[in-house]
Amino acid sequence: MEFIKALNQTFATGKTQSLTWRREQLTALKNLLEENEQAIYQALEQDLSKCTFEAYMAEYAFVLSDINLFIKKLTQWAKPRRMATPLLALPGSSKLRPEPLGLVLIIGAWNYPIQLTLSPMIAAIAAGNTVVLKPSELAEKTSNLLAQLIPQYLDNSAIAVYEGGVDNTTALLKQRFDHIFYTGGKNVGKIVLRAASEHLTPVTLELGGKSPCIVDDDCDLKVTADRIIWGKFLNAGQTCVAPDYILVSRKQREPLILALQQALIKQYGPQPQLSDDYGRIINTQHVERLISYLDGQGDNIVCGGQSEIAEKYIAPTLVLNPALDSPIMQNEIFGPLLPIIEVENMQAAIAFIKAREKPLALYLFSKNRQLIKELSEKTSAGTLCVNDAVIFMINHHQPFGGVGESGLGAYHCQ
Ligand code: NAD
Repeated sequence: MEFIKALNQTFATGKTQSLTWRREQLTALKNLLEENEQAIYQALEQDLSKCTFEAYMAEYAFVLSDINLFIKKLTQWAKPRRMATPLLALPGSSKLRPEPLGLVLIIGAWNYPIQLTLSPMIAAIAAGNTVVLKPSELAEKTSNLLAQLIPQYLDNSAIAVYEGGVDNTTALLKQRFDHIFYTGGKNVGKIVLRAASEHLTPVTLELGGKSPCIVDDDCDLKVTADRIIWGKFLNAGQTCVAPDYILVSRKQREPLILALQQALIKQYGPQPQLSDDYGRIINTQHVERLISYLDGQGDNIVCGGQSEIAEKYIAPTLVLNPALDSPIMQNEIFGPLLPIIEVENMQAAIAFIKAREKPLALYLFSKNRQLIKELSEKTSAGTLCVNDAVIFMINHHQPFGGVGESGLGAYHCQ
């Protein structure tokens, strides 16, 4: 691939190491966003029926805030840091010098197609790397827009967008990169890791899986329901850290279902299909996958269940006690279906989580400090979030990434 050769040559010149160049590129990316805000919202609307508020909050403003942070911190983060030196090595001195790796490949997923491509790209540029950006082909309009705008604003000798589907990604992965940053499902994550191993290329794998949500008897039920509904049905459930299922006691089960139904009406009205705030599924294949998860659930569906394939619509749906070996509990849902599983008590909830893969996010709604402490000590997850859902993603001060099957490495950390 000729363009890869050219990007490597650019890196070899040392051009991207200059802090001035990095700052210029970040500023150019900021201009790209600000001058094309409406076009971005339009592409997201076409791909996912994302409403403007969601598109602003979870994509546009998220990325803009990343750029501002990196511009502000660039000099400080790029500076060599003095390290301690042991007595025997004195009068020597030691420094840790941050340096770019070289050419970075970023493979993005379709659900937040601006955030998941540009956010890692900001970090790669700020660190002085050259970049190949591969947006997801499933969010086609956004991918096309990025491919059109990035060459207009950024340095083409150092930053390239490469669009396309599986064949193109497969071809890209045969090339040698100095880092690969992949966001998506675990099966392709394994393909990426295998390809990277050929060149001993380090990787960051931002994967997904089932993120559990425990609702304790001792919690503010109204606030809990509001926050779960917001976190779950944002982007029609197509969020890697959305609560995948709820664990709740028998006693709390009915009050919780009622509170969830009320929160749904409050946020999306009695007919979510008519709500401007409720998104659509990315494509008909995924609609059919999600509908198949409801096969045989019958009376377990306590709310929602409606769908319209032509409109890529699936209603916000609550499913009570689906069989644990059914597809809805065996796969990451990644859509607007929310199983509610009854457990004996909170100890059983903890055991339930420990018996499964380590999640990307783990949620607990509780006022019980002892339970919060116990859950944090006995379980492992990318992030444990207490008494809220999804919002932790905006915290730039903590790393974001999975553990075990939910991911390898992290970003948003220095
Ligand atoms: P996807 O289908 O868009 O695939 C992601 C990327 O992989 C795309 O760019 C695609 O071209 C490429 N790809 C697909 N198949 C390939 C193959 N066989 N070989 C090489 N490349 C291939 O996205 P997806 O996998 O449907 O994304 C959903 C998953 O991503 C969920 O599991 C979700 O939890 C996870 N996710 C994680 C995060 C995170 O930050 N941790 C964020 C969003 C999504």
